[in-house]
Amino acid sequence: MAERPPCRCLLRQANPDLGKIVADYVDSLPEDAKASPEVYRQRLAACESCPRLADGMCLDCGCYVEARAAKARMKCPGVPGRW
Ligand code: SF4
Repeated sequence: MAERPPCRCLLRQANPDLGKIVADYVDSLPEDAKASPEVYRQRLAACESCPRLADGMCLDCGCYVEARAAKARMKCPGVPGRW
C-alpha cells in the first residue's frame, strides 16, 4: 500500500488518537500559561493555511502546533509576526 502524502491539517485530523493525547496535554496546562480560546483558534487557523504544516507538525520547529499554539508565550517559529 502506498504511503499517503502528509496533509496540511491538524494532528486531531491526521491522527485522532495522538491528537487526543495532545488535547489532554493542552487541558492540563495551567490556565495562566494558556493562550485564550480565541487566540488559540486564530493561531491554529494560521497554521492550517501554512505550507510548513504537515500532519499537525510545524516543519520549522518540529512541534505539534496544537501544543505549541496553546501556550500564551509561544510564537510562530517560521514567520515573524504570524502569531
Ligand atoms: S511556521 Fe508558524 S504558522 Fe506555519 S505551521 Fe509553523 S507555527 Fe504554524
